Amino acid sequence: MEKIYMIPVNDAYNEHGGCPICRLRDKAENNYLEYYLGPSLMEPDTRKITNKTGFCPVHMGKLNKAVTNRLGLGLVMHTHLKDFNEDINPKLQAAIPAKAGLLKGRNPEYKQKLNNMADLIEKRIRLCPICDNLNDAMEHYVEVICWMFSHDKDFKEKFINAEFHCLPHTAMLLRQAAKLPQNDAADFVEALYTNNTATFDALISDVEYFTLKFDYRNTDKPWGTSKNSIQRSMRFLSSDGRDFDEQQSKKQS
Ligand SMILES: [Zn+2]
Ligand SMILES: [Zn+2]
Repeated sequence: MEKIYMIPVNDAYNEHGGCPICRLRDKAENNYLEYYLGPSLMEPDTRKITNKTGFCPVHMGKLNKAVTNRLGLGLVMHTHLKDFNEDINPKLQAAIPAKAGLLKGRNPEYKQKLNNMADLIEKRIRLCPICDNLNDAMEHYVEVICWMFSHDKDFKEKFINAEFHCLPHTAMLLRQAAKLPQNDAADFVEALYTNNTATFDALISDVEYFTLKFDYRNTDKPWGTSKNSIQRSMRFLSSDGRDFDEQQSKKQS
């Protein structure tokens, strides 16, 4: 099994709170953001890729927030815009429908051309080397997690005691478990199930308590673990915690 993936997996499971796989994802994503804003920007091989792909909307937003290298971002944006323009606009010009007149009849072919253009643009704006690298890394991580669960007792313990695995990452783990021998899959999925039901039960009860706190008769009762239960539920339901941190909801109580 690949050691370079085992170390970050162990690190993520040694930390507490939330989903360890989200932590792995966040770290890997930050590394790729730094990579694409770092010296790699000037490497012709990288530029060949980013000229074509640019970045997806989510990663453009994150690159925009990482103000470390505005010049680099400008250079990448410049050559990407040029590449996009040279690719799209000649084709767009060719797709302008001819006006039907007395001599030239109507020709419905233009509809297909316009839809093809739309497909082409939509396909290009989805391209993102950060997403590609991240998806690759996540596949390796999930593979390593399943392997370590069956081969490393300490890790198995940590896996069982993780606060939770968010639902999108639970789905990823299940897909990986489907590739395991049946007995390995049995142990793994049982641990995942136990963790999952415990998380649902805890969140359901905390969120209910949160709502009951709005009853004036409960004003003086302590919040207990319910105060950030909305955010914890959001982080459990979605692997993307961008807007689900406690600071973003100042008026929650
Ligand atoms: Zn997660
Ligand atoms: Zn992306």
